[in-house]
Amino acid sequence: MAEVRLESVSKRFGKKVWAVRDFTLHVEDREFLVLLGPSGCGKTTTLRMIAGLEQPTAGLIYIGDRLVNNIPPRDRDISMVFQSYAVWPHMKVYDNIAFGLRYGRRKRRYSRAEIDRIVHEVARLVRIEELLNRYPSQLSGGQRQRVALARALAVKPQVFLYDEPLSNLDAKLRIQMRTELKYIHEQAGATSIYVTHDQAEAMSMADRIMVMREGQGAQLGTPNEIYFRPANRFVAGFIGTPPMNMLEVAVEGEDGAMYLVSPLFRILLEDETAAKLREKAVKKAILGIRPEDVAVTLEGGDFATEVFVVEPQGPQQIISFKLGESLILKSLADADLRVSPGQEVWLRFNRGRLHLFDPETGTRLN
Ligand code: ATP
Repeated sequence: MAEVRLESVSKRFGKKVWAVRDFTLHVEDREFLVLLGPSGCGKTTTLRMIAGLEQPTAGLIYIGDRLVNNIPPRDRDISMVFQSYAVWPHMKVYDNIAFGLRYGRRKRRYSRAEIDRIVHEVARLVRIEELLNRYPSQLSGGQRQRVALARALAVKPQVFLYDEPLSNLDAKLRIQMRTELKYIHEQAGATSIYVTHDQAEAMSMADRIMVMREGQGAQLGTPNEIYFRPANRFVAGFIGTPPMNMLEVAVEGEDGAMYLVSPLFRILLEDETAAKLREKAVKKAILGIRPEDVAVTLEGGDFATEVFVVEPQGPQQIISFKLGESLILKSLADADLRVSPGQEVWLRFNRGRLHLFDPETGTRLN
């Protein structure tokens, strides 16, 4: 097994498009690292450079201790699983899985009995043992993706690279497969780098997430760090459904205390947050507050407002409130409270969960 290191890696396509810019990333041995970000932010290009399918314009890529910039893909000791299940249509499942062991760039020769043992072992792990005699055309999408996964596992690579492997599956199967993939990763214990734009997938599977934006790293952290302490406004807005609410506020000091002020509310800040804002001489900020950190009651809170829209979502309601130009979203479980449009309610922000960002740079202030 091996760590993967990218040192100041850049990739330019043509004269103008910088798909990846000065990107540094250290993936630890056996870690499951997710590259997450919106379409076009450079995730796939990064993965393809690690695989050797693209040559970096600048920077160094290491797999283990080995600088691999000039090493062809087949000699990098990696397996890649794609969105389109790249399995051989003219070969039975068994032969698809055995392919890399028979013909790949092997570390050693495998006997027929060894190949048979490995094929059954990985087929059992991804739960397709009863399908070994079928052709890919006789399989569902989810089963075909399991074949691709089994084939990747069979050769026991140092590093697994996944490029949106679940995005062709329907929503239900995707959720089931991500749980299984996580289990398989824990069994295989290999270093894995996984590209997705699906934040729920990233949150549920990753040891750490690298959020990317415009070819650069926006934040690297555990799913909890990314969710509860986003380093900037971009990450804060990208992670979470319904998304984090963002409001412009003024920061005012009075008698040694600090307040967040908007036309509707005046919120006293906790000492620690106040000290940070004072130190940075902050006058204006973007206040971020997640829907679950807004409490809704019939009376008593930071301010009163009217319910704007109610969207039923099975066991919960997503309700929205107008706050000047902004809309605040909040999900309410059925048991909490039933509200209807136009009704007056009170909102209260959870003080320990206020996120403050610089209006110009978007950097976290607290
Ligand atoms: P998606 O989630 O849509 O796949 P991504 O984050 O994986 O997006 P990349 O595919 O890495 O993004 O693309 C990053 C940028 O590089 C995009 O602006 C894309 O248009 C550009 N790009 C990617 N491949 C090429 C190429 N072969 N030639 C020119 N531009 C490219």
